[in-house]
Amino acid sequence: MNLVNLKDSSDKVSFSEAVKKGLGKHQGLYFPEQITPFENIEEIIALPFVERSIRVLKQLIGDEMPDDLLNKIVSTAFQFGAPLVEVTDDIYSLELFHGPTLAFKDFGGRFMAQTLANISEGQPITILTATSGDTGAAVAHAFYGIENIQVVILYPKGKISPLQAKLFTTLGGNIHTVAIESDFDDCQHLVKAAFDDPDVREGLHLNSANSINISRLFAQVCYYFEAIAQLPKEQHDKAVFSVPSGNFGNLTAGIIAKSLGLPIKRFIAATNSNDTVPRYLQTGEWSPKQTVATISNAMDVSQPNNWPRIEALIEQGYIDKTCLIGEGVDEEYTQVAMRQLASLGYVSEPHAAIGYRSLSRSLEEGEVGIFLGTAHPAKFRETVENVLGQPISLPQPLADCVGKPEFSVEIENSYVALKSHLFSILK
Ligand SMILES: *Cc1c(COP(=O)(O)O)cnc(C)c1O
Repeated sequence: MNLVNLKDSSDKVSFSEAVKKGLGKHQGLYFPEQITPFENIEEIIALPFVERSIRVLKQLIGDEMPDDLLNKIVSTAFQFGAPLVEVTDDIYSLELFHGPTLAFKDFGGRFMAQTLANISEGQPITILTATSGDTGAAVAHAFYGIENIQVVILYPKGKISPLQAKLFTTLGGNIHTVAIESDFDDCQHLVKAAFDDPDVREGLHLNSANSINISRLFAQVCYYFEAIAQLPKEQHDKAVFSVPSGNFGNLTAGIIAKSLGLPIKRFIAATNSNDTVPRYLQTGEWSPKQTVATISNAMDVSQPNNWPRIEALIEQGYIDKTCLIGEGVDEEYTQVAMRQLASLGYVSEPHAAIGYRSLSRSLEEGEVGIFLGTAHPAKFRETVENVLGQPISLPQPLADCVGKPEFSVEIENSYVALKSHLFSILK
C-alpha cells in the first residue's frame, strides 16, 4: 500500500519509506492512500491478540513486509496485554499501561523500534523526538541498545513529572536527553526546525519517533481491536471510546480501526484546558490559545500535530462528523473525576480521569463506554497522592530507576543552540 503526503499528493511512499522518513515534504504527514475494511470482521476480532494484530497491520501495510518478518516484529513488540477492566456496569477502562514504561506509548514505540531495526539494514539513524512526558520513556526504552541508532529526546524542563523524567534520563548509552527551557509546543517546533534543516536532516540521518511516524499509529490501532474483543459479542457495536488526547495520535488510531470495519459506535475527543479541538468541533473555528500547564501534562498541547490526519479521515468519508464529539475538562473536574473513580474502587491518574469524566457525561442508554487508561497512576504519583490523599506504591520499572543518576543536558529554547549540541554529541 502507498502512503500519501497530506500536503503534497505527488509525494507517495511505501510503508518502510514512511517509517524511515517520518515526515514528508513541506513537513507533511503520511497517510494511507486507501483503507480497506475487513470483510470478515468478527473472525478477525475472535483471534488472539498477537495473531490478530499481525492481520490488522498487514491489512494496513499490505504485502510489502514478508509475513515472517511482521510476525517477528509484532511478537517482540507486543509482549504485554491491554486488559479491559470494568469500572461501572457500563463503563470500562482499557488499561494500556502494562508495558515497560507504563503508558500506551510502549505499543507504538516498540513496534516502531523493531520495524526500524529490521528495515534499516545497518544504516546509521538519529531519532530526534520531543516529548510531553511518556513518549520519551517509551522511545528511549524501545530503542535502548539497538545498534546504529542514536536517540535524542527533547522535553520541557520542569514540566513533566520527576518520575516520568527518571524513566528516560537515566539510561545513557545511545539515549541522549535534553531539557529545553520552554514548553512542549516549543520542543515540537525545535524538532520541526531540525527536520527542515538539510545539514541536520541529511547529516545525521534524522528520523522522528513522535506520533507523526505512521508506524506508531498503526500499532495503536491493534488495541482498539483488543478492547472490542474483550466485550461480549452482543455489545460489539455499542462501544463508545473516550480518548484522552494531546497530539491526537491515539484518536487517529481509533478512527483508523473504525475505518477497518471495527464496529465502534462513536468517539469522544477528551482534552484538558488545552481544548483547541473541542472548541473547533463545537464552533468550526480553529483558534489555538497559548498552551497552559495542567496536571494531565502529557496532554498540554494546543496545536495537535495529528489533527490533519483526522481531518483527512473525515473528508475522505471514513467517519461521519456526528460520530466524533469533543469535551474539554478543566483542572477542577479532572480532580473530581479522579475522586469519583477512587470511590468506585478504581485508582486512576489525571489523563484517564479526563477520559472517564467526558464519557460519563455523554454516555447514552444502551451504549457501552470505554475510556483509555493511558498511563499507570504511579507515573503521576505526586498528583494522585495529593488529589486522593492516599499513598501509591511504585511498580517495579519505576522503582528500579528512582535512585539512578540523570544524564540530561539543559539548553535554551533556540534552534542554533540545539543544532550545535546535536553536532557536538553525534559527529
Ligand atoms: C501521550 C499521552 C496522551 C495523549 O495522547 P495523544 O496520542 O498525543 O493524543 C494522553 N495520556 C497520556 C498518559 C499520554 O502519555
